[in-house]
Parts: sequence; C-alpha cells; structure tokens
Amino acid sequence: MRLLLIEDEPEMASALAANFGRHGILLDHVANLADAEAALADHCHDALLLDRRLPDGDGLTLLARLRGGLQGEGHIPVIVLTAQGDLSDRVAGLDAGADDYLAKPFAMEELLARLRAVLRRPSGLAARLTQAGRLAFDPEHREASVAGEVLDLPRRELLVLEALMRRPGRTVMREALVEAIYGFEDEVQSNALDAHISRLRRKLEAAGAGVEIHGIRGVGYLLRATP
Ligand code: CA
Repeated sequence: MRLLLIEDEPEMASALAANFGRHGILLDHVANLADAEAALADHCHDALLLDRRLPDGDGLTLLARLRGGLQGEGHIPVIVLTAQGDLSDRVAGLDAGADDYLAKPFAMEELLARLRAVLRRPSGLAARLTQAGRLAFDPEHREASVAGEVLDLPRRELLVLEALMRRPGRTVMREALVEAIYGFEDEVQSNALDAHISRLRRKLEAAGAGVEIHGIRGVGYLLRATP
C-alpha cells in the first residue's frame, strides 16, 4: 500500500512516515499543492492524506479538482488532516469530497483505523483479503499468512507480495513492482527487486504457502498457486 501525504510541516511528515513504515505502508511526502499534482500524475497511490493550509493554497482546491474528474479516472480515498477542526471546516471538507476528516493533533491509531475504514468502502481499492494456495494477504492489517500463521516479512517484501497478491495469476510488470516498493526518498537499485523476490520465494516455500512466483524475463513476475 502506497499513500501520498500533502503536508507542509516537516516534523509531522517525518513522524507519519516513520509510523506508516512500521506498519508496512509506503508513504510519499510532498509539501505543497503543485508537487502533489505532479505526484498524482506520475504515480499510483491508494489514498491521500491532505493538509488544508498549504503554502500554495487550500488543500480543498486539490480535492475539488480530483473529484471533478480532472485527474484521471477512479475514486482515490482522501482523508483531510488539519488544525482547522471546527464544525464548518469539517463540513466544507466532506462537501468537497473528502472521505474522512481528522483534526490535529490526532493519535496514529485513529488515523490507521480511519484509513482502514475508507479503504474498506466499495470505492476503496485495497481492502480485500486475497488468497492464493494456502497464502492469504490481508491489506487492512498488513499481514500475509499461511494457514492462519502470520509470516514475518520486512516492509519491502510485504509490499512486493501485496502488489503480486492484488492480481494473483496475472503478470505484474517490473515497473509496477518498483513503484509499489520505492517511495520518493528511496534510492532504487535495479536488481534489488529480484533480490526481494528471491528472499520471498524462499520464505513462501519454507512456510508451505503452496504458491510460486514465476518470473518473466525483463517483463515482470506473477504469483500463482502451485498445482
Ligand atoms: Ca499546514
């Protein structure tokens, strides 16, 4: 799962990035609306966390443009995060198309719970439990398990597995896998993806997951149940 945070307070942004990282969620951060527009045009995010008072305007203007359909198709869940927590601000945020609204300061647990809730709605992309062989992936709780036994996977292996488990039995392109595991701040190493995949393969085999990750040279990978 990859999120985009639009927030101009650096301390807030780094605290959120560290917290989401611990939960196996990739967080990209931009500090103004112009960079947010560029990030949305170039990358795929599962949800946005949007501040309102930004250096180049009110976050709700971006939200209004997203909901007006000028940023491509599909409904991306948006949680508005802001100090402006009074009633009229909350109403304005929800009317502009926010899926939820959280006033600062907030507890990380509450933000995670609200994120799970917006992703669980029919428009949310990422909340379905997927299964292949004896392997299950629960995007909401950030867990992969084999016959109920949770696998202990580092963040990037979890992210790559999530991307493959969204489309079991279908090829996922290398670019899409790289996109799923590296944020803006990360240095992408070209053969790191293959190294993550081979570690994942070993762990899945050791756990008796009943799946294989099949590589298509130069194209991508697919995960399928072993016959
Ligand atoms: Ca702000």
